[in-house]
Amino acid sequence: MAPAQQNVVDVCEAGVAQIKMRLLDNSFKDSSGVKVIEDNNVIRKDASEKMNSDKDFDISVYESMEFRPRIKWPDLLVQLSLHLVSMYGLFLMVTNNIRFYTTIFVFATIFVSGLGITAGVHRLWSHRAYKATTPLRVILALLFTITGQRDIYTWALDHRVHHKYSESVADPHDVRRGFWFAHVGWLVLTPHPAVENRRAALRLTSLDLLADPVVRIQKKYFIPLFALLNIALPIWIPMYYWNETLINSFVLSFVTRFTMTLNIAYSVNSFAHLWGNKPYDKFIKPSENPLVSFVALGEGWHNYHHVFPWDYRTSELGRFNVSTNFIDIFAKIGWAYDLKAATPSIIANRALRSGDGSLVEEQYVHTIKS
Ligand SMILES: [Zn+2]
Ligand SMILES: [Zn+2]
Repeated sequence: MAPAQQNVVDVCEAGVAQIKMRLLDNSFKDSSGVKVIEDNNVIRKDASEKMNSDKDFDISVYESMEFRPRIKWPDLLVQLSLHLVSMYGLFLMVTNNIRFYTTIFVFATIFVSGLGITAGVHRLWSHRAYKATTPLRVILALLFTITGQRDIYTWALDHRVHHKYSESVADPHDVRRGFWFAHVGWLVLTPHPAVENRRAALRLTSLDLLADPVVRIQKKYFIPLFALLNIALPIWIPMYYWNETLINSFVLSFVTRFTMTLNIAYSVNSFAHLWGNKPYDKFIKPSENPLVSFVALGEGWHNYHHVFPWDYRTSELGRFNVSTNFIDIFAKIGWAYDLKAATPSIIANRALRSGDGSLVEEQYVHTIKS
């Protein structure tokens, strides 16, 4: 019996719960370059070692202060315009008024560029859940730029603030303020002073991000790169290769594609912070949301992710997770390495300690001793 499997048995035999834990060891890949993590506390410290100490930051002061956000009108108008034009784009799509290849191109680009968010700015740069060679980092930076979701540095910094101060006034998209605020409202309203304070603090300590030349270059040339990769090329390709009209290409291949990708990313902050099971920690809002995982390439297993943010898989093995498959493929050729992953025993222990018991619903080990 493998050690991790033995631990699961130990937990169950100790009579901690009647929960039947899943046996993951059969498929757990601790021999293929995955760094097995046995002590969650060690890694938590490691993952946040660049983050600022809180000793000069009293969140209770900010929680009790009165704050009325103002609307950022230019940002609101941009969001409204994108969404209105996208409605027209979807109308053109469903009424078959565009070339079939344009539809294929839009969805293929959403899918492929999305990996730049999930495997790139999220798991690699924000969480350092694995390491990547320069060619892979360049590919991920290009894919991420196609999505147009700000520069790597700004995105990763905000995401670190989100994890460290989740569900507090310092969380940029604090879901306690409701679905719409977490989905898109936070982008069109002035941020809470606590968010600005923590952004500034983490800016001082997230030097690892700017130590990467790929991040620096993408940040420095973000506007021309955005114009080329998010606007010009997506409009030009359908026109050049299958004679799509300029207006259709603009509406579908730029605006609708861009807006759909934005909403998929937004859905992790809204839907996956509100609806789903909490098998690992029932005391936090992030949840396991299969639908979000499907559209967001595996990023909807959000209860797991907030409990084990340093795990490159962002979910247990066996969950639908295209981005994990993508990283695994690059690990096979050596472009992705030092992959961090939680052992089944850590996961099982955490689920027993603080989960909502929903793992019971699945097929588990009962047969653990066999
Ligand atoms: Zn989250
Ligand atoms: Zn994250």
